[in-house]
Amino acid sequence: MTSYPASPVMGQMMSQPLLISTIIDFAARHFGEVEIVSRRVEGDLHRYTYRDCQGRAKRVAHALQGLGVQIGERVATLAWNGYRHMELYYGVSGSGAVLHTINPRLHPEQIAYIVNHAEDQVLFFDLTFLPLIEVVAAHCSTVKAFVLMAGHERMPEHTSIPNLLCYEELLASSSAEYVWPQFDENAAASLCYTSGTTGNPKGALYSHRSSVLHAYASAMPNGLNVSARDTVLPVVPMFHVNAWGLPYSVLLSGAKMVFPGAALDGKSLYELFEAEGVTFSAGVPTVWLGLINHAVQNDLTFSTFRRTVIGGSACPPAMMDVLMDRFGIEVVHAWGMTEMSPLGTAGVLQAKHLSLSKDAQRKILQKQGHAIFGVDMKIVDDDGVELAWDGVTYGHLLVKGPWIIASYFKDEGGDVLQDGWFPTGDVATIDGDGYLQITDRSKDVIKSGGEWIGTIDLENIAMAHPAVLQAACIGIAHPKWDERPLLLVVKRPGFDVSREDLLAFFIGKVAKFWMPDDVSFIDALPMGATGKIQKNKLREQYRGYQLPTA
Ligand code: AMP
Repeated sequence: MTSYPASPVMGQMMSQPLLISTIIDFAARHFGEVEIVSRRVEGDLHRYTYRDCQGRAKRVAHALQGLGVQIGERVATLAWNGYRHMELYYGVSGSGAVLHTINPRLHPEQIAYIVNHAEDQVLFFDLTFLPLIEVVAAHCSTVKAFVLMAGHERMPEHTSIPNLLCYEELLASSSAEYVWPQFDENAAASLCYTSGTTGNPKGALYSHRSSVLHAYASAMPNGLNVSARDTVLPVVPMFHVNAWGLPYSVLLSGAKMVFPGAALDGKSLYELFEAEGVTFSAGVPTVWLGLINHAVQNDLTFSTFRRTVIGGSACPPAMMDVLMDRFGIEVVHAWGMTEMSPLGTAGVLQAKHLSLSKDAQRKILQKQGHAIFGVDMKIVDDDGVELAWDGVTYGHLLVKGPWIIASYFKDEGGDVLQDGWFPTGDVATIDGDGYLQITDRSKDVIKSGGEWIGTIDLENIAMAHPAVLQAACIGIAHPKWDERPLLLVVKRPGFDVSREDLLAFFIGKVAKFWMPDDVSFIDALPMGATGKIQKNKLREQYRGYQLPTA
C-alpha cells in the first residue's frame, strides 16, 4: 500500500464505500420498473424488473448465510447469461462473499482445479451443466453444497452429486428482508481465472471498489456509452470477466437488460434483438460471424440495433465494414483483458476526426481504441525504455490503473508488476492521438530475420478476401530466417480460392518480407474457452511443417 503525506485540510464530503450492493439498490430504487428479460435454459422467455432482481438477490444473500458461507469465502457459478446468474452477481458479492464465475467451456479437469484452488464453498449451476457437475463434483473437495439453478420440477430423480439443492426452493425458503453489510470497499467481490493457455489458470480477484469504478468509467460515452435509453444484450458471457462489467454498468445506467441464455446462434440472437428492441450489444468477433451470416443469408435488417462493442480478439476490418456499411451499426472496437476487469481502450472518434474522409475515419476505428479514464498505458522496448507514440514504433504494452491487477489470487506467479506497471503480454503501437493498435500477443508474434511480423495484420488482410471465413497466421521454424508466416484458412461455405490467388491478394498490402510463405486450408480453427483461436494448438499441429523453398 502506498502511504501519502497527511493533508492539512480534509474534504468534508460523506465517505461511503463503493460496494456492489449500492448498484442494485440504486437500480431498484431509481429504475425499479426497468426490465430484465432472459431466454431461459428451459426454453421460454422470463421477464421481471430491477426491483424483483434486488428482492431475489437479497434472498440469495440470506440463503448463503443459512448455508454457513462467511464473508470473503468463494461461491462459484457455472451459468449462462440470465436473471438467476444476475441475482448471484449481487446476492453473493453484496453479502460479502466472493463470486467465482467459472467458464463451462474449460476442460472438466481444469474446472475441478480452479474450484479447489478457489476453495469454493457452494457451486451454483445451470441445468445445461448437470452432466458436467455429475463428472466433476467428486473432485471438488471444498464444495459443501451444489445448487441447481432451476425449479423443483427439474431436479434429477437420481444423482451422484452430494448435497444437491434446488435454487428456487432455496430462495422460496429465504427472506427478502436483508440489509446489505457494510465493509471496506477494497474487499474482494469477484474472482475470474485467466484462460491459462500455458500452465494452470491464475485468478484475478476484483474488489468492490475496482468493480464499481470500472462500471462507472466503462459506461461513459467514450467507452461503452450505455444510458437509460438503451436496451442491452450482453453476448459476452457472465462467466468471463464479468461480461465486461455489463451486469454492473447496465444497472447503474438504468438500461433494459436482455439475456440470451445458451442460445448464441445467429438466428436465436437475431430474433431476440428484434423482439426486445435491442439497441446495444457486446461480444467477441466469432459471435458476430454467426449473426452477420444469418442476417446476410436471409436478407434481414436490424430495426433497433445501433451500436456494438467488439473485443476480446481483433475485430477484422471486413467485419466492421459489413456491420457499419450494410447494417448501419456503429462498431466500437475495444481492448482489454481479464487482468484489467477488462476494459482498457475503446475506439470512438474525436471532434477533430469528424471532417476526415470515411476511409480515414475507418482506419482510426479499426485500431483498438483510446484509453478510458482510469487506465494509463505505455509501450516499452526489451530494456523497459518507453517508446514513441507515433503509430509505427511497436513495443511491449504496459498498463496501470485502479481496476488493473496488482497480483494474482494467492500470489500465484509472484510479483507481476514492473515498476508499478502491469505487462500485458501484448505488442502494440500508440499513435499521436493516443489510439492503441495491437500488433500481436508477444508469444504469437513471428520473428523473422531479426524483425517482428504481426499476425493480426496478416489475418485481417486474408479475412478481407470474399472466400475467407476465418484465418490464423503462425510462425514456422525456418533455417535462415528463424520463423516464417504460414497462413491457415477456413474457406467461406460455397466459395473457393487457390493458394496462389490468396497469396497474390497480399501483394501491395504488406512489406515483401511480411508475405506469408504458404497457405494451408483447414476445416476449422481450434477455439479456446473464451472465443480466441488457440494458436499454441496450431503451432503444435504444424510443428515441422515444410514451407515451400523460394
Ligand atoms: P482475456 O484475458 O482472455 O480477456 O484475453 C486478453 C487478451 O485478448 C489481450 O491481452 C489481447 O491479447 C487479446 N485482445 C483483447 N481484445 C483485443 C482486441 N480488440 N484486439 C486484439 N486482441 C485483443
